[in-house]
Amino acid sequence: MLEPAYQADVVIVGAGVAGLSAAHRLTSAGVTTAVLEAAPCPGGRMSTEKVDGFRLDRIGQLLSTSYPELRLTPGLDALALRPFAPGVLLHSDGRRQRAGAVPGAMGARRARGALHAVRALASAPRSAAVGTGPRVRAPLGTAVDQARLGAALARLASSPVERLLARPESPAAQALSERGIPARTIDGFLRPLLAALLCDPDLTTSSRCADLALRAFASGRLCVPEGGAEALPELLAQALPPGTVHTGVRVTSIATTSVTTAEHGEIHCRAVLLATDAGTAAELLPGLRVPDFHPVTVVHHTTDDPPTTGASLLLDADRGGPVAHTTLMSQVDPTRAPAGRALISSTVLGTPPPDIDTAVRMHLARLYGTSTTRWETLAVHHTTEAVPAMRPPHDLRRPVRLLAGLYVCGDHRDTSTVQGALHSAHRAAAAILADLGAAGSLHRSEPLRAAA
Ligand SMILES: Cc1cc2nc3c(=O)[nH]c(=O)nc-3n(C[C@H](O)[C@H](O)[C@H](O)COP(=O)(O)OP(=O)(O)OC[C@H]3O[C@@H](n4cnc5c(N)ncnc54)[C@H](O)[C@@H]3O)c2cc1C
Repeated sequence: MLEPAYQADVVIVGAGVAGLSAAHRLTSAGVTTAVLEAAPCPGGRMSTEKVDGFRLDRIGQLLSTSYPELRLTPGLDALALRPFAPGVLLHSDGRRQRAGAVPGAMGARRARGALHAVRALASAPRSAAVGTGPRVRAPLGTAVDQARLGAALARLASSPVERLLARPESPAAQALSERGIPARTIDGFLRPLLAALLCDPDLTTSSRCADLALRAFASGRLCVPEGGAEALPELLAQALPPGTVHTGVRVTSIATTSVTTAEHGEIHCRAVLLATDAGTAAELLPGLRVPDFHPVTVVHHTTDDPPTTGASLLLDADRGGPVAHTTLMSQVDPTRAPAGRALISSTVLGTPPPDIDTAVRMHLARLYGTSTTRWETLAVHHTTEAVPAMRPPHDLRRPVRLLAGLYVCGDHRDTSTVQGALHSAHRAAAAILADLGAAGSLHRSEPLRAAA
């Protein structure tokens, strides 16, 4: 099948979820593909550290069951998603209150489910709050405020994406204050939720991206891959023909018909797909935009005396410490901790404080309403260039075809999420297949099957 001059039809640089999913689409269409990965194993930022029977993610672990690419990406059929309890648990003034739960939001009945939420939120009794702190103001204000919030979520869940993308664009914090939403709803719910979803504590993100993130929240359930973040790239890698992924191979330069590697010299091909992080992509292809990044730190603790928050995602509406969100992860996904041990995973956004472990423990003690002094720290994972910033104006569909034979994908070409990375790969694979199947320098003698 190969022309002798080529060692693969397509060389993909980088085996993160974008590169692996593109490889899956190309190999399924009969295109020989080599994925070159600099690290010792595939997965990129979606990696999971194993320590004493615990599975500890490096990423901040917020996916949504409504991400379309989790359904559309071939190779992910066997992906098991572990949902959080519906909505989120908000901590404010020593109390915790559930909000944003959308019954039935995991399936196609999302609009109807969101409408149920309006009623549920409007009539939520004060006893819905958990915890034993003093009874002061609820994070979400009055029942009317909550009903308005439910109505807004319902509208978002049923809004077509195109309509959201046609709205004026400004920083999310500014857009929130201009939309006539009560300050309590903004500070008590939207701000902490969006900060967590966007990994952006100051909400400098484009309001369109914020709307998309809220839409994904309202129309699905927050979830994590069973077994750790690495389960997703592992499934993709396993579904590829044996020998497709080559780890420990660092690409040092690229052209349209070859790549040069530090370890194996030049590799010839008919097209190159650059699927690295944004910084490396710009080094290999000067001229590509390098975004700012949001730093993220994930701290994992264990205890044999777990808090009583169940499988909830707990957010601090008061911003009373470094933790943006935290969860009893072993309750969400029991495969991540050995029997009898609880795993608590917490995310710190932005530049972490100097003594992060002490600051996080003190904050967690307030959030969970329990002593954390006997909790054991399992890992502190800090990633400086974790999530590309999406400041306005943000182009959610940056071109993935630079010229015939040269393509680029990854979260920096779309939204800075797993969904965005997979979707950019979807677009890039379709562009490559279109070019390979068309007349011109990339013409093949036999027609290729269309992209899945
Ligand atoms: C701490 C943290 C928290 C996050 N939280 C969330 C979240 O809650 N929800 C969400 O949806 N997303 C989150 N993300 C973002 C998500 O992880 C990324 O969007 C996604 O994993 C990006 O995938 P990718 O394939 O585009 O890039 P990457 O995963 O970065 O893959 C690029 C690959 O290219 C390889 N590479 C680089 N240079 C070379 C070279 N010269 N030669 C060969 N290979 C090379 C790298 O080793 C890497 O494997 C988070 C990320 C981090 C780090």
